[in-house]
Amino acid sequence: MQKDQVLPELALLRETFQHGITLDLKWRRSQLLALDTFLVEREKDIADAVHDDFRKSAAETFLTETGYLRGEIRFALKHLKSWTKPHRVSVPLIYQPAKGYYSPAPYGVVLIIGAWNYPMNLCIAPLISALAAGNCVVVKPSEHAPHTSSVIAEGLGHYLDRSAISVIEGGVEEAKALLEERFDYIFYTGSHAVGREVMSAAARHLTPLTLELGGKCPCIVDENSDIRVAARRIVWAKFLNAGQTCLAPDYVLVHENREDELLLSMREAITDFYGDDPRLSPDYPRIINEKHFHRLETLLDGFSPWSGGETDPDEHYVAPTILRGVTSMSAIMQSEIFGPLLPVIAFKELEEVLDIIRRAKEPLAIYLFSSDRHVQERVVRLSRSGGVCINDLLFHAALHALPFGGIGSSGFGAYHGRAGFETFSFKRSVLKRALYPDPSLRYPPYSSRKFSFLRRLFPGWSIGKLFLH
Ligand code: NAD
Repeated sequence: MQKDQVLPELALLRETFQHGITLDLKWRRSQLLALDTFLVEREKDIADAVHDDFRKSAAETFLTETGYLRGEIRFALKHLKSWTKPHRVSVPLIYQPAKGYYSPAPYGVVLIIGAWNYPMNLCIAPLISALAAGNCVVVKPSEHAPHTSSVIAEGLGHYLDRSAISVIEGGVEEAKALLEERFDYIFYTGSHAVGREVMSAAARHLTPLTLELGGKCPCIVDENSDIRVAARRIVWAKFLNAGQTCLAPDYVLVHENREDELLLSMREAITDFYGDDPRLSPDYPRIINEKHFHRLETLLDGFSPWSGGETDPDEHYVAPTILRGVTSMSAIMQSEIFGPLLPVIAFKELEEVLDIIRRAKEPLAIYLFSSDRHVQERVVRLSRSGGVCINDLLFHAALHALPFGGIGSSGFGAYHGRAGFETFSFKRSVLKRALYPDPSLRYPPYSSRKFSFLRRLFPGWSIGKLFLH
């Protein structure tokens, strides 16, 4: 793609934004409703495309993509009016008579770059937030899920206002060409390495951005937990999308007294969910491409899996696999696994667990199974992560009312629900003053009497008093 092929799209979007079309709440609602119609009318096309990209079942696509997105649209429509309300502030006497307020204002023309692992969700969820906030949007889906990318391009082009929303398909070259342009906000989901490149491209134009990155999410299973339920939930969350989930539990830290029980229950859950041979299950997806398949095969090198471990390069199949005897020094513990391999590490004391987590980079989520409130509080208080989910996994990201995002190495900024609306808005302050009275007090010349009077009038004058009493 040549650079001048991008520019006409952007010029149109910029013009639409400058004409204030997207500021109208009616326009925003109409686009959100049109997006919902797209998800309803094209549900089968979307499910087929995601299936063609990595053999995900229609039920899983509904759960993690279309169903979730429809809920997000509904939530935005329900709250849009209250989110857009101006906030009045009190105005000190010295500035009276006046009215001060700030309102959320859209950034302008924003760029959303999505990743392949939830190819609809990671483009459309930020799009919902960006539209609710009144922006014009360029969406760049991932080239690694090409079927879904073309459904997005075709669908958005058909259902949404093309003068305000544009989809640019393509890979690295197209993404780089887009980043040469000046956007008013960039929302990126993907790896750390590319995140750094996106951030330095954004810096060239001083463009603010959000980075939704990955990391190694630990799952702690304490001595005081219902092991059978924990096992089923862990297996579900880990092998959903064949482990290719940024929020998947990367590894399990289990109390040594419950390790055997957990391993056996997890193996039982794998058979319950996917049968004796998961390769034959219509509910078990494949690895997205050869590169990631070989990466996972390499991670398996040197291990004799406790369960699973079968692979098939022709199908990019990697069985749900449990690894025992892993230590925090093992190669598999040095980077995000992003596939269906689950290391299990036993611990004696909670302090060891906190130590492992604190020494690692900040994950997107920490999971904890424990019915001990003291343990729950300690883990939440003494660790850092984008989010925490206690006695379950992933569902904290399914709640539209909870902000979703990372911290430190798992990224920065958040979205979903109000957090998404706020990410794509900035607070614009307005002070409206009366022209009269217009006392000479603020104007020079500043006599010593005037200066002393000014000091007394100024709002900062009484800080000391406030804190002394
Ligand atoms: P990917 O390869 O699909 O890349 C993401 C996007 O970046 C694509 O649209 C791609 O075209 C674009 N891109 C690639 N190279 C680029 C470059 N040099 N400049 C600009 N854009 C470029 O996805 P990935 O990077 O393999 O993503 C996997 C990672 O994403 C994992 O670490 C995962 O944990 C993380 N992830 C995070 C979240 C989250 O919400 N925090 C969600 C999903 C995935």
